[in-house]
Amino acid sequence: MESRSPDAIIIGAGIIGSCLALEMARRGWQTLTLDKLPTAGYGSTSVSCAIIRTHYSTLTGTAIAYESYHRWRAWGEYIGTADEEELATFRQTGCLVLKTEGNHDLQPVLGHTKSLGIPWEEWDQKKILDHLPFLDLNCFSPPRQPDAPGFGEPSGGQIAGGVYFPFAGYINDPQLSAQNAMMAAKREGAKFRFNAEVTAVDSNHGRVTGVTLTSGEQIKAPVVVNVAGPHSSKINQLAGVDGQMSLSTRALRQEVAYVPFLPTYDDEGTSTIYSDNDVGCYLRSEVGNKVLIGSENPACDPIEWVDPDTMNENLTDQALSQVMRVAQRIPELGIPRHLGGVVACYDVTPDWIPIYDKSDLDGFYLAIGTSGNQFKNAPVVGEMMAEMIAAGEDGVDLDRSPLEFRLRQLDRTIDTGFFSRNRTVNDESSFSVLG
Ligand SMILES: Cc1cc2nc3c(=O)[nH]c(=O)nc-3n(C[C@H](O)[C@H](O)[C@H](O)COP(=O)(O)OP(=O)(O)OC[C@H]3O[C@@H](n4cnc5c(N)ncnc54)[C@H](O)[C@@H]3O)c2cc1C
Repeated sequence: MESRSPDAIIIGAGIIGSCLALEMARRGWQTLTLDKLPTAGYGSTSVSCAIIRTHYSTLTGTAIAYESYHRWRAWGEYIGTADEEELATFRQTGCLVLKTEGNHDLQPVLGHTKSLGIPWEEWDQKKILDHLPFLDLNCFSPPRQPDAPGFGEPSGGQIAGGVYFPFAGYINDPQLSAQNAMMAAKREGAKFRFNAEVTAVDSNHGRVTGVTLTSGEQIKAPVVVNVAGPHSSKINQLAGVDGQMSLSTRALRQEVAYVPFLPTYDDEGTSTIYSDNDVGCYLRSEVGNKVLIGSENPACDPIEWVDPDTMNENLTDQALSQVMRVAQRIPELGIPRHLGGVVACYDVTPDWIPIYDKSDLDGFYLAIGTSGNQFKNAPVVGEMMAEMIAAGEDGVDLDRSPLEFRLRQLDRTIDTGFFSRNRTVNDESSFSVLG
């Protein structure tokens, strides 16, 4: 039993829940984070590709990603680390995105990039091949499954160029990053309890009053925040708010394949991240002689809405399909007989843009729907949610007057109504993991 009731309960100790705990603790809140798993970062955060990049389809998405990049670059400074602590590290690799008809030659993305002054470089065919000489620049679009007619045959035309974003990379150990944030939050007085599954969100007269755990234990708090990742819709059901929002969240099953590194790539995990809309995949290097291959959710890929507690956790032909699609572009990519990889869920909204908002139940807040692309934004989302919750609890009607949140690196504010649970579907989105 807790000695005193916390000011706020955070459900979920992934990277976003842990950063939120840190930011609320920094603002004087006595928080209690509950997670059903044994420690921080064991949920979808643990298998994240943890790519940090600055390009998004919307101006607000781009701004928040650029702001967050600066937090990761100075991660130790951001969390205020204790000297002896092992820290997750940011590997700056840059990211090359191929220009295709499917991504409108990156013109919308470049518009946002330029208007925010984010560095980028135009790469023509020659420059691409100077850096990545193993690429076959024939077009293969539309992305298709390996058993579809025409798979592996050029479909006409060539990739004319791409855009290189130097401010990109990945976090070497996403699980450790959540634990770093948890330790920092604890130093500020935040509390965490693990193996603690929330089975009820309690309320009275339209106001949240706390939660109940599997054991039957009730914990009272005037504020509860849903940061449950792919379980977010289950928590919303427990709170009775799932039918009260224009947008809902669903768990989407994903596979990421790990294949041996290319002889011409590197085994230090420092090669350029590369995004290929023409074959519908992205690729990043990893230490330990590996490259990771994920899907960019083209139309040929199955859409598997699942219950994260009962889904198939084994790799299927989908992982192989991703590897074979990339092998069209990289003919010397070895396809191992026994493919390794991970299976996990994204928590997806209809427009693949997250929900950072209050709910219709007073005191119950939402940091959900992260749609496979919000690991990178966790530190800034933690700050933004902490300010939003403080404003909401101060009596601000966030539906009428959404928080104007200041991005200090960019020195501009964003209207958090962009992330509203009641927004109309944002047509600017890529409607994919790219956000
Ligand atoms: C395969 C994959 C690759 C990805 N790659 C990238 C990438 O390259 N870049 C990027 O920016 N993003 C990426 N993402 C997305 C990113 O990882 C997620 O957006 C982010 O990790 C979500 O963090 P979270 O804290 O919201 O959720 P999670 O890490 O899932 O944490 C939620 C926590 O809630 C707990 N919980 C759930 N239900 C309960 C309950 N009833 N009681 C108590 N606790 C509960 C869970 O145990 C879990 O620990 C990827 C995601 C996946 C799955």
